[in-house]
Amino acid sequence: MSAVAVSRVQERVTGPTLTIDPAAIAANTRLLAGRATGELMAVVKADGFGHGAVTVARTALANGATGLGVTSIAEGLALREAGLRAPVLSWLNPVDADFATAVAHDLDLAVPSAAHLEAIVREAPGARIHLHLDTGLARDGAEPTAWARLCRTARRAEQAGRLRVVGVMGHLPCADEPGHPANAAGRTRFAWGVETARAAGLRPAVRHLAATSATLTDPRSHHTTVRVGAGLIGIDPSGTTTLSWAMTLTAPVVSVRRVRGGTGVGYGHTWTAPRATTLALLPLGYADGLPRAASGRAEVLLRGRRRPVVGRVSMDQVVVDVGDEPVLAGETATVLGPGRAGEPTPADWAAWSDTLPHEVVTGFGPRIARGTALASLRGVR
Ligand SMILES: *Cc1c(COP(=O)(O)O)cnc(C)c1O
Repeated sequence: MSAVAVSRVQERVTGPTLTIDPAAIAANTRLLAGRATGELMAVVKADGFGHGAVTVARTALANGATGLGVTSIAEGLALREAGLRAPVLSWLNPVDADFATAVAHDLDLAVPSAAHLEAIVREAPGARIHLHLDTGLARDGAEPTAWARLCRTARRAEQAGRLRVVGVMGHLPCADEPGHPANAAGRTRFAWGVETARAAGLRPAVRHLAATSATLTDPRSHHTTVRVGAGLIGIDPSGTTTLSWAMTLTAPVVSVRRVRGGTGVGYGHTWTAPRATTLALLPLGYADGLPRAASGRAEVLLRGRRRPVVGRVSMDQVVVDVGDEPVLAGETATVLGPGRAGEPTPADWAAWSDTLPHEVVTGFGPRIARGTALASLRGVR
């Protein structure tokens, strides 16, 4: 073995590592911002869809995004602590959330109910708010029956100098199926919501309905701003556009063993070696976010080829069948990535586990080391 190979072996024994490629996020942001008829708010909730909220936020802001969106106030405060000064909207908080701290750190707040409005007026004078209308999910956002009154109450608070209504937001339920009638209904309801706000005397300058799918497929939904999360990191739920995956997950081979045909592997012996073969062990499992439901279907890239994960995905480890390939402990397997070298993508893992790539990329846990592709960073800056 050459000296280079030995040093690579040493560098590989550091454990599973998630590497984020800001150049991919930059390219996705530019594409999406180019499609938007207005501005683009980069949604970096759930730690930037598992890619690092600050990395995604910085990269998106440098490539066309003009604001940031998160669910909780805590997520917004973390962006401020990292030194980001762009507008940040937090849209999902309990009524007793720390609205005062949010406003002290210049976070905009979405308001989905009269109770939230009352709490913000009481606790956080001077808040900039976005009234949130339910446009078809029956989830977050004010019910249409409560909307006109919410608008009037907000207008009175605005006139009293307690807050400013800067935005109105909605969210489409079926945007990944552009022809679904619920989207037309959502657009109509949103237009009605904006009109109702105006009729109450409000002048919301920021009006936002579309997320990634509608940004890519339905300009009628764009209004002044689109809120894009998944697309930034390479997921297009509408299936219409090729974006760039931004995440690579590698894991070192911890050990290798040769087994006889008939050897049962893993819990429950759900897989039995059909003939003599070599098994490579990787130190990550469902506790690290590798979906257990992918057991029996998943593959990884090792020595330039897809190799099946055999037996069940355990909490901390998986076993890979490498056949007669003389794989060595310390080599690196690519668990997922952009797919350019033949490695599985987050979409492959999602298909193997009957879920969305969103759930795969947001699921990786704290035992996995995080890194940034430095070569790519240099390209961005
Ligand atoms: C997550 C989320 C978004 C971003 O949606 P993507 O499809 O990931 O772009 C936008 N708005 C709301 C309310 C969300 O919860």
